[in-house]
Amino acid sequence: MLILPPATIGILGSGQLGRMLALAARRSGYRIHVFSPEANAPAGQVADREFVAAYDDLDAVRDFARSVDVVTYEFENVPLATAETCAAIVPLRPGAQALRVAQNRLREKNFFAENGLPTVPFAPVHSLADLQAGLAQIGCPAVLKTAVSGYDGKGQIKLNHPHEAAEAWQAVGEVECILEGWVAFERELSMVAARDVNGRIAHYNLIENSHANHILDVSVAPANVPPPVLTQAEAMVQTVLTALDVVGVLCVEFFLTPTPGPSPWNGEGSRLLLNEIAPRPHNSGHLTIEACVTSQFEQQLRTVCGLPVGDTSYLRPAAMANLLGDLWDFLYEETKEQKAQREESVNNLRQSAKSADKIPDWTAVLTHPHLKLHLYGKKSARPGRKMGHITALADTVEAAEKIVRGARGKLVIE
Ligand code: AMP
Repeated sequence: MLILPPATIGILGSGQLGRMLALAARRSGYRIHVFSPEANAPAGQVADREFVAAYDDLDAVRDFARSVDVVTYEFENVPLATAETCAAIVPLRPGAQALRVAQNRLREKNFFAENGLPTVPFAPVHSLADLQAGLAQIGCPAVLKTAVSGYDGKGQIKLNHPHEAAEAWQAVGEVECILEGWVAFERELSMVAARDVNGRIAHYNLIENSHANHILDVSVAPANVPPPVLTQAEAMVQTVLTALDVVGVLCVEFFLTPTPGPSPWNGEGSRLLLNEIAPRPHNSGHLTIEACVTSQFEQQLRTVCGLPVGDTSYLRPAAMANLLGDLWDFLYEETKEQKAQREESVNNLRQSAKSADKIPDWTAVLTHPHLKLHLYGKKSARPGRKMGHITALADTVEAAEKIVRGARGKLVIE
């Protein structure tokens, strides 16, 4: 059954991904209800209705689910019970299975292995003894990651020597972890794709990503890779979408290794290793808003509404640069008390910006004919927090990248 305007889309979570979905949905005349513990959040600000309650308040979750025609989520750490409560009332897309796998790094890596998808060497860690055994098996350097709730490099510790095991195990809080071999990758790539209710899959061309401090910094697309790499990535993404029976959008992040690896974890003849999956639109796919016929958010809307996947062609090469809270650099000059006071007294980013000494001056971005500014409406900035992004289209990815990096450089206040 097609879900058509003015039907209501329910979103679990209220961050920037929900905001961009809501904006795409409203453009086509859909209504949006958002559920999250935070009021006046990025998605809530542009929704028709905000349900503000804890995720484990299942009565509130049921009220929310009864008010919408379909539920999707904008981050994968939505508790399973919350998602399943919704699924008992309305369609949940993608389903709980994708969420279950994406929420836990160990489950995710086991899922790759079970489906013959090449990934990094890994070992489960439930104790210091497991960690020591894993290090003996995988070797150093390696990286210890908490199995749940890690993102943007949080909950990750790199180990260069086996004797660092005890300290690392303590530092992660002695919780369920995964140990991964450190991959000397050549590049990081991602592929956003969508699958509709009839099982039809549409891939976006590969995106190349650079990270700073474990956080995505700049993405460019289409990535310049040898044609077999693109074909392999598409086949791997198809396997993931089909195995998880995804209806919606999913992103796969890859490491591209310099040569096809001989290790048992490397696919035969493949330079691609799967790093992680996200059953939702992805930061690296933000450039599809301007660069593609159908943006990743419109694609999410289409697929969760039962519509066929839209055209994923690129109109032009593109680049995107994230705007992190670091650019709101007044934060560094505040004392803890000043920061607490400001956060208490301000209700939105505008006021917060006004009350600060230094804020990014958007002139360089907004006066540039090729640049598009996206701000997420977050109430307060802090280093590492994703506050917005800028996108440029150009004749080549190199030219687009130069524009976004140049403009972002001008935002930094000396
Ligand atoms: P993750 O949250 O697992 O995607 O990690 C964030 C970033 O850390 C990745 O995008 C890589 O730049 C780096 N990283 C994570 N795991 C590994 C690994 N096993 N080998 C090399 N770099 C890694």
